[in-house]
Amino acid sequence: MKIIIHKGAEEIGGNCIEISEGSTKILIDFGSPLSSNSKNISIDPSDYDAVIISHPHLDHYGMLSKSLAECRLFCSELTHLLINTTNLFSNKDILNDEVEFFRPNHSFQVNNLKITPFLVDHSSADSFAFLVESTHCRVFYTGDFRATGRKKILFNKMLNDPRLKNIDIMLIEGTAMNRRPSDFLSESNIESFLYKLFSKQTSSSFLIASSQNIDRIVTLYRACLKADKVLLIDFYTAWILKLMQKVSISVPYINWKNIAVIHNFGGRYYNIIKEHEDFFDGFLSEVFSNNHLRIEELRDQPSKYVFKVSSNHIAKVADLMNITDPILVYSQWEGYIKDDVTLKSLKNKYDMKYCHTSGHALIEDIELFLNILQPAKAIPIHTETPHLFKKIYDKTVIYRDNEEILHEPNI
Ligand SMILES: [Zn+2]
Ligand SMILES: [Zn+2]
Repeated sequence: MKIIIHKGAEEIGGNCIEISEGSTKILIDFGSPLSSNSKNISIDPSDYDAVIISHPHLDHYGMLSKSLAECRLFCSELTHLLINTTNLFSNKDILNDEVEFFRPNHSFQVNNLKITPFLVDHSSADSFAFLVESTHCRVFYTGDFRATGRKKILFNKMLNDPRLKNIDIMLIEGTAMNRRPSDFLSESNIESFLYKLFSKQTSSSFLIASSQNIDRIVTLYRACLKADKVLLIDFYTAWILKLMQKVSISVPYINWKNIAVIHNFGGRYYNIIKEHEDFFDGFLSEVFSNNHLRIEELRDQPSKYVFKVSSNHIAKVADLMNITDPILVYSQWEGYIKDDVTLKSLKNKYDMKYCHTSGHALIEDIELFLNILQPAKAIPIHTETPHLFKKIYDKTVIYRDNEEILHEPNI
């Protein structure tokens, strides 16, 4: 078996990993770089038998385009819907329908390679790790994962999974290897922080977070419920929650109490949904037959409401509500602020409070993972600090982008 990390050995994001056995060649993830200093890879997917996408974050799928020519594309059904949703809301073409969906723990075959998807805990819905097996080599790719989210049980399950014994090569992510454990709040820590803040609020609150970070939306909703506030979401967030109903009954939706769609401050999301009625399939009428509110209905009691709307709309909603001193919570990666004009101006205009936790594993969790599963070789990926792996696991081998990693059969 041969592995080439085309991108992701020396940076966070942009993952693109080639695994080949004989004449079969697959790509795992086909991401665009997160750093503006990093270049896109120039790889033609039609040279491969399959592209397999681990989860719907751009640094894992951003190089996919509408047509993949002869190449088979595999991802989960929800990942496909989330990628197409992101594409539609950013005026890009949606992926074509010739996608093969995998499900957790259901192996599939690409010629002589057997691939088994493992659902993992991460800040994106439906994130997967993959076990890739040939007759003489077993490779495990963690994708992005952690052990501190609402699905942390999945991490513990992997530690005890007999399929993950005797791994020859583990490609393991290390995004957060150099962060301090004190940086890692749990979702319940964040829930308590938000609850306390909302309980005391005398004005409306706004939260900036990715609508696709479902753990965070659940946390936000739970804090609103406890503090008896109404969570107001935009059409985009409401659609993501609708998609989530396919895989989880514990994710809030617009027919639940203390949650409603707010809809007369922009129109862009509404217009996109209206324009692509086939894709959004009756969603607008669903919104209008459930909890939905207009701004004019809210002005009497601003402290009753917490808004989860796009950061581009926050200043406008605050103006329409006649609020000058909203509570503003920033609940995503701080690094986004420096390149984003809107976020910078919100930070300057309002008192922005920061409350977030990483979607990636703590160094202690990575150490535990490696030392319990004992792969014959651990290769750091998705990290700027690969050398830290050597301190926690002696069978670590560091590779650079585009180096060949060969695994010969034991004869
Ligand atoms: Zn990533
Ligand atoms: Zn990710």
